[in-house]
Amino acid sequence: MTSDEKSDRILITSALPYLHGIPHLGNIITSVLPADVYYRFQRLKGKNALYICGSDSHGTMHEVEAEKKGMETEDLVYGNHEVVRELFKKLNLDFSYYDITDSEENRNITYRIFVALDENGYIKEKEMKLPYCRNCEQFLADRWIEGECPVCGGLARGDQCDDCSALLSPEEIIDPYCVHCGKRQIEFRKSKHLFFQLQEFEEWLRDWVKDKTGNKLTKSETYSWLDEGLDERCISRDSEWGFKIPKEGYEDKVFYVWFDAVIGYIGATVNWAKENDKDWEDWWFDRKTELVQFMGKDNIPFHTIIFPSMLKGTNENWNLADRIMAGGFLLSKDVKFSKSRGKGLNLESALEVRGSEYWRYVLMALYPRNSDMMFSWNTFIEKVNNELTDSFGNYIHRVLKFVADNFDGKLPEAELGPDDEEFLKSVRNKISEIEISIEKFKFKEALREIIKISSLGNQYFQEKKPWETIKSNREECERTLFACASTVKSLAILIEPFLPSVSEKIWGFLNLDGDVHREDWERAKKMDLTGVEIAEPKPMFEKIKRDEIPEFGAEGIEEGGENLISFDEFQEMDLRIGEIETVEPIEGSDKLYKLEIDLGEETKQSVAGLKGTYSPEELEGMEVPVLANLEPSELMGVESECMILAAVVDEKPVLLKPDKKVKAGAEIK
Ligand SMILES: [Zn+2]
Ligand SMILES: [Zn+2]
Repeated sequence: MTSDEKSDRILITSALPYLHGIPHLGNIITSVLPADVYYRFQRLKGKNALYICGSDSHGTMHEVEAEKKGMETEDLVYGNHEVVRELFKKLNLDFSYYDITDSEENRNITYRIFVALDENGYIKEKEMKLPYCRNCEQFLADRWIEGECPVCGGLARGDQCDDCSALLSPEEIIDPYCVHCGKRQIEFRKSKHLFFQLQEFEEWLRDWVKDKTGNKLTKSETYSWLDEGLDERCISRDSEWGFKIPKEGYEDKVFYVWFDAVIGYIGATVNWAKENDKDWEDWWFDRKTELVQFMGKDNIPFHTIIFPSMLKGTNENWNLADRIMAGGFLLSKDVKFSKSRGKGLNLESALEVRGSEYWRYVLMALYPRNSDMMFSWNTFIEKVNNELTDSFGNYIHRVLKFVADNFDGKLPEAELGPDDEEFLKSVRNKISEIEISIEKFKFKEALREIIKISSLGNQYFQEKKPWETIKSNREECERTLFACASTVKSLAILIEPFLPSVSEKIWGFLNLDGDVHREDWERAKKMDLTGVEIAEPKPMFEKIKRDEIPEFGAEGIEEGGENLISFDEFQEMDLRIGEIETVEPIEGSDKLYKLEIDLGEETKQSVAGLKGTYSPEELEGMEVPVLANLEPSELMGVESECMILAAVVDEKPVLLKPDKKVKAGAEIK
């Protein structure tokens, strides 16, 4: 089926977070967050979009934890579910429905799929040797058996070692004991279990999956599974917590957690449909519905191999995914990510450092589309301070503030001149690029283009000097502000998928009608601000300093040694004496000057925070040390190509001068 035969219905799912601890930023960045951005984008594009997710709630891990805490498993699980749901709300995730896999509807769908697979011969019985506690008279599934790890001597819990993460089979555990009773009366007994015949789908999968992956990472991971050869997979467990298996002889067993977890997407859709008086089958059986699934790379085989095979094996014509998109891991030397409350960086502690929009921005600007990405506080600070605050936030603020202050808030309407048209055309080109990027899941690139629009705006504002034309050429000033305000409106729409509450604020400053979350994406390209009255804007972002951020088990920093640089690294720095030639204030900034600096063979431009401490007259002709080969950056829409070095005393710069007059460009060693 080609995409133009699809209707406007699009179902978007995010991998279901496993209900254990506080959500990990590494999970957020590849699942719930990109799915939310993509969903919001599709909604602005006018699609009938549905965003489904929920908590993955079964598994013996919960039973073990509940017993240790002396709680009912159900109370523990539903308590965790509420914690996760609240945190997701704080992150502004706009699920159409956030469910839990332990629902009646999910049980019904799980039974329906299991019965069909069984009837079609894809479920087989097999005997396994499993740990059995003679004292408790029961089999011990997965985490119910603990002991010494044969690899590291640490605590082995069922199928995995807690200390070294080695994957284990229970028979390998040294001196094992039963977690229920603590007794070492374990023997290995034969027991019958059910196996899904996954290997039978191998050939079909090879062909089906070839155009279903959203990126190289998902594709290569899938084919490496297929190339290794598929094996049957156990779907039953000796456990109380989960869906009982509806088959004779299996009354005391439940489905293995992964089996009903992937079906949870369907169960959640059924629940959404019930509550909204809709037909869920439109979303799972109508071929015209598009299905797009997001996840982290550790979840790829469940979505590209196992789930489609389960649905295919029913012979029921379920809709299968159209595009499957997995992202890489989020790594860091700066922080220890942790799922435990109060330890390390996770969604809860992150939101205590800064609110949702800061995290939504930084995480999506680091979206690990084809490879793992590094998180560091320097990156966080740079993105928040330079991109969000200085470029994006500053542009919107200076434009709206100018209209509020100089036109009494009433946005003038003006016939545009060729310069203004040129500026708006370059903005429209960027909008098209942003659309294409989001469709290809290139979220990082889309955000970069949005920030570029704000720096184009800053540049245009700077060149047009409305603070001068307001006195000398009012008509031109009106044209400038009309073009700028239109771009602010465009940015409000473009940023909505990424930073929904920021978008709402801008919409509010512009006093525009309607709900920006349900605007038409095309409106970002239109000039339609007629009779708009602009409210006094408030700054939307606040810069962050390193000392405002707690440590979160920063291993690299604690060791200290990591902060040393090599002599080679030092030699890469081009340090020279420069002579300041010209100094110009930057409109709208209390601190920044634009300076031209003579570096001997060349002259470079620098933006420096010297205003308020030094006057232009004091600076002109002064000799200062300069880092001449710093990567260019942009501050308030003005490019900075080098950096003046200064001492900082009470947060104010104190310039350094050579002992005697030297030639501009003299090397510093
Ligand atoms: Zn026992
Ligand atoms: Zn170990």
